[in-house]
Amino acid sequence: MELSGWGRFPVVSAEFVEPLDFSSLQMLLASSDPSAKLVPRGAGLSYGDSALAARVIGSRFMDNFSAIDETARTIRCGSGVSLRQLLRLCMPRGWFLPVVPGTANVSVGGAIAADVHGKNHHLDGSFCDHVLDLTLLLANGELIRCSKTSNPELFQATCGGMGLTGIIIEATLQLREVPGVFIQRRSLLAHSLRECFELFEVNSASSYSVAWLDCLARGKQQGRSVLYLGEHVDVSNKRPSQHPTRGWLTVPFDLPASLLNSYSLNLFNSAYFQAKRYAPKSDTVNSTSYFFPLDGIAHWNRLYGQRGFLQYQCLIPDDGAFEAISAILHKVSRAGKGSFLSVLKKMGAANSNLLSFPGPGYTLALDFKFEPGLFALLEELDAVVLAYGGRLYLAKDARMSEAVFKAGYPQWEKFVTLKQKIDPHGLFASQQSDRVGLTQAVR
Ligand SMILES: Cc1cc2nc3c(=O)[nH]c(=O)nc-3n(C[C@H](O)[C@H](O)[C@H](O)COP(=O)(O)OP(=O)(O)OC[C@H]3O[C@@H](n4cnc5c(N)ncnc54)[C@H](O)[C@@H]3O)c2cc1C
Repeated sequence: MELSGWGRFPVVSAEFVEPLDFSSLQMLLASSDPSAKLVPRGAGLSYGDSALAARVIGSRFMDNFSAIDETARTIRCGSGVSLRQLLRLCMPRGWFLPVVPGTANVSVGGAIAADVHGKNHHLDGSFCDHVLDLTLLLANGELIRCSKTSNPELFQATCGGMGLTGIIIEATLQLREVPGVFIQRRSLLAHSLRECFELFEVNSASSYSVAWLDCLARGKQQGRSVLYLGEHVDVSNKRPSQHPTRGWLTVPFDLPASLLNSYSLNLFNSAYFQAKRYAPKSDTVNSTSYFFPLDGIAHWNRLYGQRGFLQYQCLIPDDGAFEAISAILHKVSRAGKGSFLSVLKKMGAANSNLLSFPGPGYTLALDFKFEPGLFALLEELDAVVLAYGGRLYLAKDARMSEAVFKAGYPQWEKFVTLKQKIDPHGLFASQQSDRVGLTQAVR
């Protein structure tokens, strides 16, 4: 069948296998030709080719909740459970996941494999910082439990390891109690990139923060943006029983890619910024609309047309973040290629996982429809990112070169050494891992 990630680029022809249960998964591994590439796949919401290979193993059948500890606020569940399902269980108890990405539809396995981050990385770290332990099925069929203290090297390689160490079967997650599942949101307008950075710094004690940026604004208006801050609050005195709900809008078909051009993007970005001038500066919103605004629009990836789109997400260390992001925005606006969704976040300390993306600095994410000339622009952006000591996010990537990857992830060799020990035939490999040089070396 034809398979792709959320960005719908690239599309590959793959054999998609969804085992019925755990024993059929084990049999499948045992009967696998070691020379065939195989990669686990959760909800398929990584943008590019990290969950693509000749053979793809679906994990959604692992949708069990095996233990819940009301006192310690922990849940053990299968890797195919979605964060939405977890939140449904947690929110009536007054609990919340310590870290959520921009969509609740991702699976626990996908969240661990990409070590996803949210709007609170600057204070709370990434998803795997709250994973107490996980069970992994290795290429040789062995089941192994690992955590920060038990088999820590395997844990550090699996968290953020993009499915290359084995198949995550189950995980125990630490939840947190929150005063309420509603969010007190403050919206702050920044008229320039400098002002946006200043607002992030001044508000760094805020639990959640994320900025929407007008990526096409130039000159003094470059980087004009709206910074959204958030705090959990209890406004209802009763906890919602069914929360959140699924999308209520849908994009029914692929829009013609020609609708997205520098004119329409400029128009959208300017109108959005202007509208925010008159919007309330403080309001209370439900957590769904604060954390997962796009989940309300089913198939929004069709907005970018049939040929799909790419997300470019980079991390730039604090020192030089302003200059680098200013240079990137300059190149993007000059090229007239931009997106509705340009997002800037302040990030906190890195953890010890070998391939995790987050680290201290700022992360910028830009969406681009796939079109001729795009890769040349993105290569120019790569050069800026590397010049400032940054890196690109594997979960969003569909094209970065081996050199760009290796420069951004200095622990890649340690990862490959461990992989050679646990997967000597290189059974687990994705199109992405081959491209960035993480797996051909093993094969
Ligand atoms: C609208 C949107 C918003 C997003 N916002 C954010 C954000 O704010 N922050 C952020 O960090 N990310 C964000 N992402 C990216 C997303 O969180 C990650 O790509 C995540 O990995 C997707 O999970 P998935 O279940 O769809 O995994 P897939 O896309 O299916 O797979 C992703 C990777 O995980 C591996 N994997 C999946 N399941 C398993 C398993 N059981 N065992 C081992 N490996 C496995 C795959 O092999 C692959 O390498 C966003 C994505 C979208 C579409």
